[in-house]
Amino acid sequence: MKSFRAILLLILMTVFLTAFASADDAAPTQIRTPEELLAIADNPEGSYVLMNDLDMSGYDWPSFTFKGTFDGNGHMIINLHWTKVSEETQVTYDGNRKTYDTHFAGLFAILDHGTVKNVRLPGVNLCFENYEGDCFLGGIAGYATESTIENCEISGTIRLDVTGKMFGVGGIIGYGNAVVRNCKAVVTLVNTDLDAANKDEEFLGGVCGAGYPDIDGCEIEISGFLSDHGYVHSGGLVGMYIVYPKAFKRDGYIKNTTLSGFITFFEHNNNRRAYCKERCGEVMDWYFSSSGNKFTFKRDERTKYDVNLLPHGDCKNPDFEVTTVEATCRDAGYTLHTCKTCGYTEKDNYVLSAHKLPDTYETITESTLTTQGVGEYTCTECGAKIRKALPTLTPVPTEKPAPTVTPTEAPSKATTDVINETKSGSGIWLYFLPVLIGLPLGAIAALLYRRHRRIKLKRLRKARRIQAAKAARAREKQDD
Ligand SMILES: [Zn+2]
Ligand SMILES: [Zn+2]
Repeated sequence: MKSFRAILLLILMTVFLTAFASADDAAPTQIRTPEELLAIADNPEGSYVLMNDLDMSGYDWPSFTFKGTFDGNGHMIINLHWTKVSEETQVTYDGNRKTYDTHFAGLFAILDHGTVKNVRLPGVNLCFENYEGDCFLGGIAGYATESTIENCEISGTIRLDVTGKMFGVGGIIGYGNAVVRNCKAVVTLVNTDLDAANKDEEFLGGVCGAGYPDIDGCEIEISGFLSDHGYVHSGGLVGMYIVYPKAFKRDGYIKNTTLSGFITFFEHNNNRRAYCKERCGEVMDWYFSSSGNKFTFKRDERTKYDVNLLPHGDCKNPDFEVTTVEATCRDAGYTLHTCKTCGYTEKDNYVLSAHKLPDTYETITESTLTTQGVGEYTCTECGAKIRKALPTLTPVPTEKPAPTVTPTEAPSKATTDVINETKSGSGIWLYFLPVLIGLPLGAIAALLYRRHRRIKLKRLRKARRIQAAKAARAREKQDD
């Protein structure tokens, strides 16, 4: 009997544990706050989904290696701020396949067998203006290997002013390989070599500085500024297409991609190559197919080597007019600086997108004295329905008969999000899974238990009968 109970308990426990475990596997960790976004660095192999837009102002974004899945869920992250590149290095190869232990920074400094999708990064300002060493910067990944980047949008400036032997910048990837699909980048890329005395290897590309990315269905707008006293490899999409390591061969592709923009550069070097082309600046290994691309690109080479090339560097009389561009339902707001002399623009002070909510709402669920109600606002711009928690009611002092109740304050954003979550209820049914599985199994276990008891009772009765018969026979013998 005891063993039967133990087995029953074991069955039920297993059911509950597996149900909860599968719930965890199925549902990615939801991110709602800057702190939760920062916590990815503590568990970089996890699966994450962004539940709302995030403003990372005031935080120092860590440069770490990510090996999991990050789904931006269509949301944006603004005001990321970097002060450090990755401590971890990866090997990069130059055109002679010489190797360098290199550091990186980006949304993910190193993306290793990872996936990044559906995230928007407006107004990126990924800038290191006095870096000593070998380094690559990329908007989504400083370095990527065997990874996927899809449906991402990035705009802003990526800038590396550096003293090193091996360095570069890319709109989406600094160095490496990944599938880059349906991404949009409107980027200003600046790479300045601070060490005029020594030759170096320098790379710049709208998608990728150097490596062998597969590119499909992307839209790239590049403004490149490159000042180098070494070897320049720059391209509208890829600075140098190189498959590595040496013996490795692989068929890649660059297709259905639109490129517009320019690269202004100088290569200060008496053994000049000055690679700068629309698709790939230098192609080391022609292992990729190229089809369905559209390029509108200007190669703008300069020969004055003592003035570093910078955005707005050519303007004779910088004179900025400042206007504020309001956030819309979908896009971030920002401050726009427009040069009255040349028309050059810069953007900063990004604020999160916001729906325009009216004062009035429709009550979906009334508040009571103990529970919050639900109100639904209709965005006056886009018609989106936004639900917010309504505060619990406050009893009016009972001096007069028939007490009335009134709502107290406007709903806060925090409570709103809770309501939205409950409504969308992503994965909430999983919590009922144990019950759903547990009930039928419990019933089966109970039936088994009853059957087991019945059989045991039967056996007991039979044993008693046999014993009684034996006793009777013994008595008969005695009587005889
Ligand atoms: Zn100007
Ligand atoms: Zn709206």
